[in-house]
Amino acid sequence: MRYDYLVVGTGLFGAAFAQQAKAAGKKVLAIDKRDHIGGNVYTEEIAGIQVHRYGAHIFHTNNHLIWDYVNQFAEFNRYTNSPIANYHGKIYSLPFNMYTFNQMWGTITPQEAEQKVIEQRKAAGITDPKNLEEQAISLVGTDIYEKLIKGYTEKQWGRPCNQLPAFIIQRLPVRFAFDNNYFNARFQGIPIGGYTKMIENMLSGIEVQLNKDYLNERDYWNKIANKVVYTGSIDAYFDFCYGYLSYRSLQFETELLNMPNFQGNAVVNYTDCETPYTRIIEHKWFEFGTQCQTVISREYSLEWQPGIEPYYPVNDQINMALYEKYKTLANLETKTIFGGRLGEYRYYDMDTVLASALEVAERELSRNR
Ligand code: UDP
Repeated sequence: MRYDYLVVGTGLFGAAFAQQAKAAGKKVLAIDKRDHIGGNVYTEEIAGIQVHRYGAHIFHTNNHLIWDYVNQFAEFNRYTNSPIANYHGKIYSLPFNMYTFNQMWGTITPQEAEQKVIEQRKAAGITDPKNLEEQAISLVGTDIYEKLIKGYTEKQWGRPCNQLPAFIIQRLPVRFAFDNNYFNARFQGIPIGGYTKMIENMLSGIEVQLNKDYLNERDYWNKIANKVVYTGSIDAYFDFCYGYLSYRSLQFETELLNMPNFQGNAVVNYTDCETPYTRIIEHKWFEFGTQCQTVISREYSLEWQPGIEPYYPVNDQINMALYEKYKTLANLETKTIFGGRLGEYRYYDMDTVLASALEVAERELSRNR
């Protein structure tokens, strides 16, 4: 055995586990099937702008330990996410707050806005929300559901809102206050110099091999390491023996434009169902860029199929039941630890995936000191 740990995938989970194992004196090899490190937080520089190639990533957390952890590897700027929604050419503030209520209904006070929501919830007859549609109407009423949630959500997930789990919409704050901060997080920002640099710092001193696909040469890789930390899709690991889990995938149309300012904000969501993309990201605003050019990415959501990249687990009942079957197999594996969005089939945020990696590393490494 040449290595104590083989880490498969250099996204946040893999990089954090590798970093902790190295710090504990373990011999670690990290591999990635792509030609770069960083998983989906990877950023690349185009015309002096850090471009989030696999979708916008805004770091936010309430966890002091995680904030201190990432600050060892990057300095963060003061970016606060405040996306806006474009519905048929009219602009609305996000997340749903007093500005949104004013734009939608002309309400001025929190009492007026709350009254509107109560009326619409009552008219819809919802008392015990059981899916995303009912949960959304219950939280913000039918007008906001129809204009700012339904189209966007159905494009993003490719499923009707009444077949999606309620927890997805609970990710967004609803505030009866004038506050456009998308997150209820004490700490928020973007790593100065990009996420790739941050991951590079996490992996400092660790052997990394790129363009290496673990699943294609499993026997070889298993022979060179005592244990494997696997962050790819759990169903792929088990050769889809129970069938495919569903994932949503993304496609990006990225353009460099000869203008300093395309849309005046990092994120604009297109919440109608006719616009084929879900959002346009203008990357320079994540770092208050002053370049004379700009880079934008139109984001399209599509169902995953073999051969393309999985991004989001679809945590509905059918898929969760299937995942449980794979999880039972995973629990029987003594050599492999499963982690991350794909390995655990969980809609993790960056801070929660790091917390999970640190916890798994602590448990694993304290056992093998
Ligand atoms: N959402 C919505 N309208 C919006 C933005 C978000 O309805 O303009 C809902 C939608 O159900 C979506 C969820 O909130 O699936 C989370 O969206 P977000 O864009 O924050 O997810 P991300 O891709 O950034 O994790």
